[in-house]
Amino acid sequence: MKFVADLHVHSKFSRATSKEMTFDAMACWARAKGVRLLATGDFTHPEWLFLMKEKLEPAGNGFLRFKNGIQPPDNPHLKAFAPAARDVSFVLSTELSFIYSKMGKVRKVHLLLLAPDLESVEKIDTKLAGVGNLRSDGRPILGLDVKLFLKMIADTCPRCTVIPSHIWTPWFSLFGANSGFDAIEECFEEMTPFIFALETGLSSDPPMNRRLSALDRYALVSNSDAHSPSKIGREANVFDTDFSYAGLIGALRSKDPSKFLHTVEFFPEEGKYHYDGHRKCGIVFTPGESLAHNDICPKCGKRLTIGVMHRVEELADRSSDVEAPFRTPFLSLVPLNEIVAEALGKSPECQSVWDVAFRFIHEFGDEHKVLTEVPIADLCRVAPERVGEGVDRMRKGRVRIAPGHDGEYGSVRLFDDGPDAAEDGPQMSLF
Ligand SMILES: [Zn+2]
Ligand SMILES: [Zn+2]
Ligand SMILES: [Zn+2]
Repeated sequence: MKFVADLHVHSKFSRATSKEMTFDAMACWARAKGVRLLATGDFTHPEWLFLMKEKLEPAGNGFLRFKNGIQPPDNPHLKAFAPAARDVSFVLSTELSFIYSKMGKVRKVHLLLLAPDLESVEKIDTKLAGVGNLRSDGRPILGLDVKLFLKMIADTCPRCTVIPSHIWTPWFSLFGANSGFDAIEECFEEMTPFIFALETGLSSDPPMNRRLSALDRYALVSNSDAHSPSKIGREANVFDTDFSYAGLIGALRSKDPSKFLHTVEFFPEEGKYHYDGHRKCGIVFTPGESLAHNDICPKCGKRLTIGVMHRVEELADRSSDVEAPFRTPFLSLVPLNEIVAEALGKSPECQSVWDVAFRFIHEFGDEHKVLTEVPIADLCRVAPERVGEGVDRMRKGRVRIAPGHDGEYGSVRLFDDGPDAAEDGPQMSLF
């Protein structure tokens, strides 16, 4: 079965998340976005786990499904999705934040953990409750070396899957410029073979990652890391495999392109940490410009926040992914509300923009279809026509982006073709 999966989100019990991150609202949004398999998020949090068991039940395939009907959120656009949202399944998933010191340096690494059943979750939660305070945050902080964590998981629940999260972001990741490592083996040592997939994060895409031959053996996944329900599916994975935990993990392990079809990605420049810079000082640098300034901010004299592109350049052993033995298929998308916002000249979160976005979503079934499948001629039959034009430009890669830096998202322009706008030509062969 072909399905879109988003394996990394957070519940309302994580810090800085929307109180609308409840199972009912998440499922309705997932349905509107075209996501069929969604992460539960935060399974280490006792209250969230309690709600999970109240709402959901094992579906017999390693995923969870709703026991009963769904209470649609208080949003007129989503009411119609409540019945169909019962088709959304959940995979047990949580993110953990590890802060510890190794080889004389403080390390901060985020890991995503997927589990095949609630029994495994209970075992893991019991063990971790002795390590850190699971109640304080949906994404708890543990003062544990990730290698020891992997050992513990391999011993207690070998069918669990650990995926390093957003591996390039500067502050909390495997390769992060501030507190990460230069090689996977430095981090996981003899437990390295337990890892077979990596999450690229919003600020990097597969071609950037394929510049490191050390990553060739890993599947590259993309997830939304949504903290509010409208962000669900903004990055995701498209599979054509058995709809089960075993099918999902098998497709990732094998990297079989007939099972793990492709990812959907942000244009990486749109991510919060693509370039280097200082947000408060108004400084945005390419890796080369930072190098010329010794990574020092010319305005305040402090060290710049080194972004993802810079870090990839530092660790890459290929000049482009063309030299890689295989290339990972992906689509670069712009969220529909951002396309509509630009078409109308309004801000992406305002009500009138969502009204138009949902006109398209209702007409064609879900956002994923609108962005990737529906013929442009059909989209252009729905008003305003400029939205269809915007989707067409996005599919052709005709976008201009002011790159994100130091925690600030990049901004996308679809309609002001300047001299450096990319030439026409569909992205890869997927469109
Ligand atoms: Zn994280
Ligand atoms: Zn996260
Ligand atoms: Zn500065």
